[in-house]
Amino acid sequence: MSAGPILRVEGLKKTFGGLVAVDGASFEVEKGTVVGLIGPNGAGKSTTFNLVTGFYEADDGDVYLRGENVVDTSPEERSKRGMVRTFQITRELTGMKVRQNMHLGGQDHRGEKVVHALAGTASDREAEIADRAERLLKHLELWDLRDEYAGNLSGGQRKLLELGRALMADPDVLLLDEPMAGVNPSLTDEIIDMIHELKADGLTVLIVEHDVDMIMNISDKVIGMHQGRVLTSGPPEVVQNDEDLLEAYFGGEV
Ligand code: ADP
Ligand code: MG
Repeated sequence: MSAGPILRVEGLKKTFGGLVAVDGASFEVEKGTVVGLIGPNGAGKSTTFNLVTGFYEADDGDVYLRGENVVDTSPEERSKRGMVRTFQITRELTGMKVRQNMHLGGQDHRGEKVVHALAGTASDREAEIADRAERLLKHLELWDLRDEYAGNLSGGQRKLLELGRALMADPDVLLLDEPMAGVNPSLTDEIIDMIHELKADGLTVLIVEHDVDMIMNISDKVIGMHQGRVLTSGPPEVVQNDEDLLEAYFGGEV
C-alpha cells in the first residue's frame, strides 16, 4: 500500500484570458476522509474540481492520485483510476431513462472488475450492475422514477441521479460540486447520511457546498479558498475562525 495522501494537489494554476481562476492551489486529501472546499462565489472551487479531475487542462501544477502524477491524463483515465466527480450543473443524459443513466455510470465500475473479467460471465456482470443501480435508486428515492426520462426530473432529482451515476462507478475518490443545490431539504439529510456511510466504507469525499455550517459538520478537514488561492486549511473548528477567510466572505460588506 502506498503511504501518504490519496490525493495531493500542488501549485495548480488556471487562467481564462486575463482572469486567474486558480492561482497556485495546493492541498492534500487523506484516504477515507471527507474534505470540504469552501470560499465565496468565484473563489475557484469548481475550476479546481475541473483541474483535479482533468476536465480542464492545468496551465501549471500537478495532481497526484495515490502518489502518481495524473495531471496529463484524461478524465476517463482518472475515472478508471477511481476518481469521479459530479457537476454543479447536472450533466445527466436527458433523452435516456433514469435506469439507463445509472447503467451507463456502471460501465466504469471498478470494484470486482478483474474478478469478473477472469471468472464472471457477462450476464453476472449485468445482474450486478442492475442490482447496484436498484439499491442506489431506492436509497436516493428515485426507484419509482426508474423508467422516467431523466429530462423529466426536477432539478433536485437530477442532482440525485448524477450522484447515483457517479456512485455506480464505485469510486475511491468522489468529488461533489454542490450536491445539495436545488435538492428537497427532506433529501439533503439522506445525502448527508449517504456521505457518512460511504466514508465508513473507505471512500474519500471532496465536497463543495454553499452551506458552510453543513460543511463544518460533515468534514474532517476544510480548505478555504479565495481568489484562486488556498487561504487556510485544517480542522473545521480552526478554519471557521480563520480571520482571512472571514474577511474573504464578509470583507467589503458594511
Ligand atoms: P467557484 O466555483 O468557487 O464559484 P469558479 O471556479 O466557478 O468559482 O470560478 C472562478 C473564476 O473563474 C470566476 O471568476 C469565473 O467567472 C471564472 N471562470 C470559471 N470557469 C470559466 C470559464 N470556463 N471561462 C471563463 N471564466 C471562467
Ligand atoms: Mg462553483
